[in-house]
Amino acid sequence: TSATPILQVKDLAVSYGHIEAVKGIDLTLNEGEITALVGANGAGKSTALLAISGLLKPQRGQILFDRQDLTSLSPHKIVQSGVVQVAEGRATLTTLSIAENLALGAYTRKDKTNIAKDLDWVYSLFPVLQRRKDGLAGNLSGGEQQMLAIGRALMAKPRVLLLDEPSMGLAPLLVQEIFRIVQEINRTGLTILLVEQNVRQALRIAQRGYVLETGKIVLADSGSNLLNNPKVLEAYLGG
Ligand code: ATP
Repeated sequence: TSATPILQVKDLAVSYGHIEAVKGIDLTLNEGEITALVGANGAGKSTALLAISGLLKPQRGQILFDRQDLTSLSPHKIVQSGVVQVAEGRATLTTLSIAENLALGAYTRKDKTNIAKDLDWVYSLFPVLQRRKDGLAGNLSGGEQQMLAIGRALMAKPRVLLLDEPSMGLAPLLVQEIFRIVQEINRTGLTILLVEQNVRQALRIAQRGYVLETGKIVLADSGSNLLNNPKVLEAYLGG
């Protein structure tokens, strides 16, 4: 197993005013792997993702993707380069239909045949979206809107998918379903950065994981080593 880095974050620091939320972190995503970024509420996970997506401007550091420097690109260019974030809080467009939301995900693409194929794939991952494709996104449940947000990101044909708390606020059965689908998406070869407060589930499906505490990486290891790490057990897995 030879791991090839596809996305590297180097010494990333991000502040809100004079509060430094991310304090110089290094992350490496290997191609085709799930990398988990875990940590408590307020640790800086979302802030790090927003900086990678170009939605927040870092104070310092670099984001390198496939030998391209993304650090000063606009969010739009970053999506076009293949790094696509699924938003926390299911930012679907509630007054548009499900099919329209999915079509919007592909708006920067021109390859019509492949767009149609990807739409079929998204509908096969989330059959409920196909059944309700002409209905308004606003009428979907929280879990279904989360599925739509993931589907819409997949329609942009990402090479790296950034997922912010996909399991947040979902009923336990749906949490299982979302983690299963994240694995299924990864099996197609897509590289995933998974931000989660559900530490156990995230580390179970991740090849590698990073633990973030108050803006700093305190542990970096394989998912399985982290699951058995006494510090992780004590701090995040209830002893
Ligand atoms: P959560 O899971 O709750 O989103 P997180 O690990 O993603 O937690 P962040 O949301 O990145 O953490 O927050 C990191 C720190 O930055 C926290 O101290 C938070 O209060 C602060 N913060 C986040 N957003 C803002 C903002 N818009 N303005 C000022 N401070 C912020």
